[in-house]
Amino acid sequence: MPRKRQLAGASFADFNGAPSFTPYRNFADVMDNTILVLNAGSSSLKFSVFAVPKTGDLRVMALGQIEGLGTAPHLKAKDGDGCVLADVRWNTSEVSTHVQALDEIAALLRSRFSGQEMIAVGHRVVHGGPDHSAPLRITPQAMATLQTFVPLAPLHQPHNLAAIRALQEARPDLPQVACFDTAFHRAQDTVAQFYGLPHEYYERGVRRYGFHGLSYEYIAATLPAVAPEIAAGRVVIAHLGSGASMCAIHKGQSVGSSMGFTALDGLMMGTRPGNMDPGIVLYLLQQEGLSAKQIEDLLYKRSGLLGLSGISNDMRALQNSDSPRARLAIDHFVYRINRELGALAAVLGGLDALVFTAGIGENSALIRQMVCEQAHWLGLDLDKTANENGAARISGADSKVSAWVLPTNEELMIARHTRTVLGL
Ligand code: ADP
Repeated sequence: MPRKRQLAGASFADFNGAPSFTPYRNFADVMDNTILVLNAGSSSLKFSVFAVPKTGDLRVMALGQIEGLGTAPHLKAKDGDGCVLADVRWNTSEVSTHVQALDEIAALLRSRFSGQEMIAVGHRVVHGGPDHSAPLRITPQAMATLQTFVPLAPLHQPHNLAAIRALQEARPDLPQVACFDTAFHRAQDTVAQFYGLPHEYYERGVRRYGFHGLSYEYIAATLPAVAPEIAAGRVVIAHLGSGASMCAIHKGQSVGSSMGFTALDGLMMGTRPGNMDPGIVLYLLQQEGLSAKQIEDLLYKRSGLLGLSGISNDMRALQNSDSPRARLAIDHFVYRINRELGALAAVLGGLDALVFTAGIGENSALIRQMVCEQAHWLGLDLDKTANENGAARISGADSKVSAWVLPTNEELMIARHTRTVLGL
């Protein structure tokens, strides 16, 4: 039965601590409780709202983001059917912090989902450290532990924790759950987690952690239903978005990943160079006289597709450009994916399937075709028509290694974890 999206006259439980008034609470059959999912980036705050039915999977009711915090704040939100809920721009001074962004999101949700009661919040938290292989309910002790991982992810972790704190202040009654990008990779063999540095550095936390774990976990969880023939096999997933990485999974568990200590490692990305000789950092420090801050800026914001092309970090812009530098950036992007694919196939001892996901992986037939053609030696035969027509399976029927395009959904993974951890 279609459920009512808005119930006039009821009020959404207020983020800001005002008394919660939910007059339709007894009509639980016509309204759902909701879980809010937050993903706080360095200059953005993404959110999703999921309805929690009594039985069955979660259902998205709204999603959106405020991006451009600190420069040109812009709220965009859609409902679960893709209809626009909000498209608002502010002056920088009006909405400059994540806490203010959270207030704006709360106001939007109150106005649009007044009958629904928010019962929990799930957060994407980039770093769970060496020990957390599962999501964690937020407690004062958990917050103290997560704070110790800030030096391991200084550009992301503080924002993740700030969003949790802001909600703790506004709604201390609301249970919150932290879901880690690193957790899925904790299943990896210990030997895969070392760098060839003196052992004491490993003890001090300098190890391969791997990221994008919520995306890989989501894909691994969908395989039994959407691609049962590969679910227990040796699979490489290529998460190709603005940030990009690859993960080898065997029987649904992570056994290797292209990202390591930080999200700078591995593939070339939109603005990050990916794996490179660490001697380059020494050269930049010692010979070119760059400061640590300047190198950080270079590596996180000015390299990758943007730096190499000199045009854009957006794959669409590069694909639409006639510039030889755009073509070079695309060719190098694909080259790096194939180098990593060979390495991860070696870790797996062979390959049964390659899965593409995230913005570029899901939408760029060109990149998929280039990658698959270079992976022909592994036994992968692309079905060009399937690739161009949006099919899930894009390899030929006789291809020894199959290739797939599967949409990721990190927010749904977080909401599911939140529901499980809290027993909702
Ligand atoms: P993130 O979540 O890391 O910000 P996304 O997964 O949204 O990133 O991916 C963003 C990337 O996807 C951008 O490089 C964008 O150009 C690319 N992308 C989106 N749609 C297309 C498309 N139709 N063709 C090629 N690239 C696309």
